[in-house]
Amino acid sequence: MPNLVDFHCHLDLYPDFERAVERCDAAGVFTLTVTTTPKAWRRNADLTAPTKHVRAALGLHPQLVADRASEITLWEKLLPETRYVGEVGLDAGPRFYASFDAQKKAFGRVLDVCAEAGDKILSVHSVRAAKIVLDMIEARLPPDRGRVVLHWFTGSASDARRAVDLGCYFSINEAMLDKMKPAVLASIPRERMLTETDGPFTRADSRAAEPIDAGRALKTLARLLGTTEPEAGGMVMANLRHLLARTA
Ligand code: MN
Repeated sequence: MPNLVDFHCHLDLYPDFERAVERCDAAGVFTLTVTTTPKAWRRNADLTAPTKHVRAALGLHPQLVADRASEITLWEKLLPETRYVGEVGLDAGPRFYASFDAQKKAFGRVLDVCAEAGDKILSVHSVRAAKIVLDMIEARLPPDRGRVVLHWFTGSASDARRAVDLGCYFSINEAMLDKMKPAVLASIPRERMLTETDGPFTRADSRAAEPIDAGRALKTLARLLGTTEPEAGGMVMANLRHLLARTA
């Protein structure tokens, strides 16, 4: 059994990808390593296949859609190879807003193809776009056709409640807990909480966070929930088991 969960990390962006995979597998961290372009899929699939705890997700990152919208075709072709999808979603921040229509088109296609395939688990980015992301999930990916984990969620408490009603899970990192309003955290049921690092985009002291650092998010989460670290760890592991349990 794994002892920690990092449900959103980019292992292929570390200087030594192979070593990064080995380290979290040896440490017993269930790690979902997301990709930003389907062109990265093959190497991710090859390196994670022999591991016990590391799974690769097939992605097309919303921040790259401006230049890579045509790669949705490759993404679709590869989808039958994996149960895990990500990083996908929408980013309405000022740097990426110019491609927002193209992002909606790509993400819409991702949701439609996943709904048709069934049993996929998606790690979804929703920066400044929580409401539209939820509108699209509601319209195109029924809960019995796929499961969504909202990564680094920054929406409101009402967005969070709506996401919960749609069946979404939340992968929570240490940096996001620093800024999250208590009302938002309070609107997420404990049964829907997972941990993540989003490494290497977050820090652990002076270095890039790695999956093993998911323990930091767990520690902070335990404090905010008024529980112990072992309790919070058991909760996250039980949530992971539920998420991964096949419905079909
Ligand atoms: Mn990410």
